[in-house]
Amino acid sequence: MSLSERLAQVEKNQRLLQEEIQRVRQEAKSLEEENRRLREQLYLERDGADQQATADGSGIRQNAQENLKKLHDEGFHICHLFFGRERNGECLFCRSFLGD
Ligand SMILES: [Zn+2]
Repeated sequence: MSLSERLAQVEKNQRLLQEEIQRVRQEAKSLEEENRRLREQLYLERDGADQQATADGSGIRQNAQENLKKLHDEGFHICHLFFGRERNGECLFCRSFLGD
């Protein structure tokens, strides 16, 4: 194979690789989005279960706050900007939401 043929082959491989990277990136993005949605749903279900368990309703606010704190402690955002997304380090919006 001549040098120019080999170069053409390398360029083709590179193109294919870039397309593959695009695909994987797109997939990662939709998985992230799905993850966020599921976490949000999980949070709402937890909250719903807690509300049912509280007969007189006095503990609702407290339980909701505890659920948010739990989610936060598990390493996820609870602020409205990034709710349900994985948190890398501290987030000022989350902190202010927790009232710290
Ligand atoms: Zn946050």
